[in-house]
Amino acid sequence: KTFEDCGFSTALMNAIANQGYGKPTPIQCQALPIVLSGRDIIGIAKTGSGKTAAFVLLMIVHIMDQPELQKEEGPIGVICAPTRELAHQIYLEEKKFAKPYGIWFAAVYGGMSKLDQFKELKAGCEMIRSIVGQLWPDRQTLLFSATMPYKVERLAREILTDPVRVTV
Ligand code: AMP
Repeated sequence: KTFEDCGFSTALMNAIANQGYGKPTPIQCQALPIVLSGRDIIGIAKTGSGKTAAFVLLMIVHIMDQPELQKEEGPIGVICAPTRELAHQIYLEEKKFAKPYGIWFAAVYGGMSKLDQFKELKAGCEMIRSIVGQLWPDRQTLLFSATMPYKVERLAREILTDPVRVTV
């Protein structure tokens, strides 16, 4: 499978090629067609497997395909990450692919002590729940994780609608 098979635009293909991504990684191969079909997804794959690029690229395609969304007030998409480091890593991936399209994006996180971060991690699911509670019910939801502990499984059951589960 190639990125072309996903129907990505030439401009996005060029941006991908410029990053030296020759072909999709296994999680990308599995996830891209499922998400492009509009289904919710639970993707379980190790760190370094290309999860971040998978959902960043899909968000860009979604935004580019529906220019009318860009006139709406408020963000078109929201990405929640449990740590600041992860949020920053996602931000860098956005910068690589979204910036050339003039898509606006921002990373929002606090600069806090380790203790606060531990507390925040413990409260993480609640924060994600309160954010998700304010999103459109007919949204498309993608949940990617390296592991699937019980708490994440329970969260997935709450916030996703009839998801396809992919493990690589
Ligand atoms: P992850 O932590 O799962 O998001 O994986 C991120 C790493 O995978 C980064 O080093 C990316 O540059 C790299 N990556 C993502 N997609 C591809 C791809 N299609 N080909 C090669 N490397 C990739």
